[in-house]
Amino acid sequence: MPDPEAAVPRIGLTGGIASGKSTVAEMFAELGVPVIDTDVIARQVAAPGEPALAEIVEAFGPDLLQADGSLDRRALRARVFADPADRHRLEGILHPRIRARTLATAARAGGPYQVIVVPLLVESGFTRLVDEVVVVDCPEAEQRRRLLARDGGDAAQADRMMAAQLSREARLAAADTVIDNGGELSETRAQVHALHRRYLEIARDARAD
Ligand code: ATP
Repeated sequence: MPDPEAAVPRIGLTGGIASGKSTVAEMFAELGVPVIDTDVIARQVAAPGEPALAEIVEAFGPDLLQADGSLDRRALRARVFADPADRHRLEGILHPRIRARTLATAARAGGPYQVIVVPLLVESGFTRLVDEVVVVDCPEAEQRRRLLARDGGDAAQADRMMAAQLSREARLAAADTVIDNGGELSETRAQVHALHRRYLEIARDARAD
């Protein structure tokens, strides 16, 4: 009997803003693979009553709270976007907690292997915690088009958001595997299915060791 608590291969899924991370993660989930979303975990660790929220208020002031006591994420994003020192400070509060909670969630999630969605996987040093880095990629013009179609706003704003992230080249350089999401969803799904077969084999080999 395999030990249900034993670590299974962890696949880190990343990509630029609106590249299709959630779309690809959903395709893995449809195959029955546990998907852990670190955006959800990031919200949990800074929820009211959590120590991280108290530390954020101590560092940045009570203006970053909404009337109901929850974090005003938009205000916080604007604040750290404008100042790299503030951003590092915020990351120092959040990243260790996000990592710890992600690993605890993964330890309970089971599955033959797991997909962990980490938007800033390469930037945050989370790469050390996963067995393989998968980058969802699409050409920047298409990325901008999808970002605008989904969230509205203007092209200059979309460009600023994309420029604030790691470059496409740097992200691709950190990839073990690239999913090309520049085309039709059916083409993306075919790549996900092929990867799924490969990861099932890797998981099977790991259990046999
Ligand atoms: P974020 O960085 O904001 O979390 P994301 O990387 O998770 O975004 P998605 O939300 O999956 O990206 O995709 C961005 C938008 O592009 C969505 O509206 C999605 O429906 C659309 N989209 C994703 N893949 C494709 C595709 N292959 N063809 C057309 N539209 C797509």
